[in-house]
Parts: sequence; structure tokens; C-alpha cells
Amino acid sequence: MIRVAIDGPSGAGKSTVAKRIAKDLSIIYVDTGAMYRCIGLYALRQGLDTKDSQQVSSCLEQIHLETSYDVQNGQRIFLNGEDVSEAIRTPDASMAASNVSAIPQVRAFLLDLQRDMAKKQSLVMDGRDIGTVVIPDAELKIFLTASPESRARRRYLEYVQKGQQPVYDDILRDVILRDHQDSTRAAAPLCQAPDAVKLDTTEINFEDTVSIIKEMILKKAAELSLSI
Ligand code: C5P
Repeated sequence: MIRVAIDGPSGAGKSTVAKRIAKDLSIIYVDTGAMYRCIGLYALRQGLDTKDSQQVSSCLEQIHLETSYDVQNGQRIFLNGEDVSEAIRTPDASMAASNVSAIPQVRAFLLDLQRDMAKKQSLVMDGRDIGTVVIPDAELKIFLTASPESRARRRYLEYVQKGQQPVYDDILRDVILRDHQDSTRAAAPLCQAPDAVKLDTTEINFEDTVSIIKEMILKKAAELSLSI
């Protein structure tokens, strides 16, 4: 069994890269950002202030999250039984996720769920604190990053592909704001684990990023005599 933690700022390509690696190696992919997005979405739908820790933490008991994974569809996530895998991908849900993720009760609520998943099987898990908090003993840790402009450009293209009409400057502003919020919050801030390998993908394309990481995983598995 091998556990791969991929952390980094939003839009660095973590989830696209992790999904593809999981598929190629036939292991599970866990997108922890989706879990924070569900809580953000739920709070928005309830008309709560997503920065208010009192309001948000008292709604946690009404939330039941379930995930499913298969190679074809990747991870699907269910909020109280409703498949919200697409609904959580809007700019509002992104900002709400970043807001609620600064609340310690929200992080504690999701930590058990995430650790439980990491006990059972080989996986690639992506987020902000996987290598530092969720699986500090992961066999391989990668910190995936890229310049804010190139991350904003990727997000912009993603929204365009979905038929939305995004404004690049708004996305860049959100990327910079979320970076700031994610890395300066008191609870599990985004930071590179000391034993993580840093990979800056500003100048590296998707296929090359996938190959580099897959090679690292196979090398690590061979080094530790682990089966994948
Ligand atoms: O990765 P994604 O952009 O979907 O994550 C949404 C938000 O959830 C991030 O901006 C971050 O604030 C939060 N998050 C987190 N810890 C994680 C994963 C995501 O705080 N492990």
C-alpha cells in the first residue's frame, strides 16, 4: 500500500493530475477540497455567513457526506444524499469553501473522514494539509505549485469549457485572495511539508507533470518494497 499526498495552492492542477495518476495506477483518488466545498455550499444554501464560525459549526450536525470513486467518473460527492459534484464547482462555492475551511470545527469534522479513507488502500489524496496534518506519514508527499497568473488562466479555461462566461481578472483576484486566506489561517494553513518534493508546473505541461509524479511513485514503491 502506498499513500501519496499532493498539496498546493488552488489551480495548481492537483486534482486533474491526481485523478489521472490514480487512473493510470489503478488506485483511489480522494479530492478533499470537494469536502470543504460541500460544507461551503450547504452554508450558502442555508443563507449563513460562511466566515461565521458559530453559524457554520452549528450546521455541521445536519451534514452527511459520502463519496464514491470509480475510474470512469472519478470521485462523486454526495451532500445529504444529493450528488453535488458539479454544484460545488462555482466561484461562489470556491470562496465559501475557503471561508469555512478556516474554521477549526470544520477541519476537525472532515479530518476523521479523510484519515479513515487513508487507512484502507493505496491512494492519491489532494488538498492543502494532506502531507502536514491528514497523512503526515504518507510515503510520498508532493507540493504542486505554479504562478498565480498561470493558475488563474487554467481556471478561466475550465470555466469556459463548462460553458460559463468568466472574467479573467476576477479569477486572478480570487486566486490571490484564496492563496492569502489559505496560507495565513491559524488552522492547518497551506504550507509545504519539510519532507515534500516541490514541483512548480508554471513551465511544465500536464502530461509531463503526470509522468514526473508517476515516476516518483514507482521509485518510492520500489525503494520501500511496497506494492501499489
Ligand atoms: O482544492 P479546492 O480548490 O477544491 O479546495 C477548495 C478550498 O477548500 C480551498 O480554497 C481551501 O481553502 C480548502 N481546502 C482546505 N484543505 C484541504 C482541501 C481544501 O483547506 N485539504
